Amino acid sequence: MSSERPELHDTLLRIALRESKNCVPSPTAFSVGAVIFLPRSLVTTKSDTSNHLDELHTLLEPFFPTLIGAAAAIDEDAGQEDPGVEVQGLILSSSYSRALEGNTHAEANALTLLERKISGLPLQVQQSVLALTGAQPANQEALPAAVYQAILSRSWMYATMEPCSRRTSGLRSCTDAILASSLKRVYIGVQEPPDYVQCEGIHLLKAGGVEVLHVPGFEEECLKAARRGLE
Ligand SMILES: [Zn+2]
Repeated sequence: MSSERPELHDTLLRIALRESKNCVPSPTAFSVGAVIFLPRSLVTTKSDTSNHLDELHTLLEPFFPTLIGAAAAIDEDAGQEDPGVEVQGLILSSSYSRALEGNTHAEANALTLLERKISGLPLQVQQSVLALTGAQPANQEALPAAVYQAILSRSWMYATMEPCSRRTSGLRSCTDAILASSLKRVYIGVQEPPDYVQCEGIHLLKAGGVEVLHVPGFEEECLKAARRGLE
């Protein structure tokens, strides 16, 4: 299958892989990269209108970089794929293992950075997102959190590796961080190998109502990137 435009999921996974290269190599932890993407045009016109993706894109475009690529069409009714459909979107956040202070992970960091960015958006933009999506914060202080969840519920995460489900450090897993958020779809490059623990991220995310999809063709590269520093 050939396409003139680079395949969207490949492009986003490559961005996540590039992020993983920023990790300070660790002999006791994986190096992972993660990206959060807000798609604009989807083929499912039903969700386009009910999710207000185009209006959201217009509101947020001045604050986030745009990405355009081809992707398989998502037709929820027919369950069919039509390759090569153009999808636009915004890269809302990207991060990597140990980017933030402490023993932090890529996926949780990408979520934290997005939450921070959204708190910093002009009040008028935050209120417009609320008006558009119908999210209802309990009070003024809860406004950024409501905006964050409203945007995240329409976004996709890309991670070079399956989100962790158990951490030897006892800290909160990325799977729990994702389940505590409104994110509903995660694309991964490779399953977590049992180097440290038996990961149940995919299983737990699916059980919690999060779609987990595999972007094929990056397994070796993602594993190699993850194990940098382990030799
Ligand atoms: Zn993790």
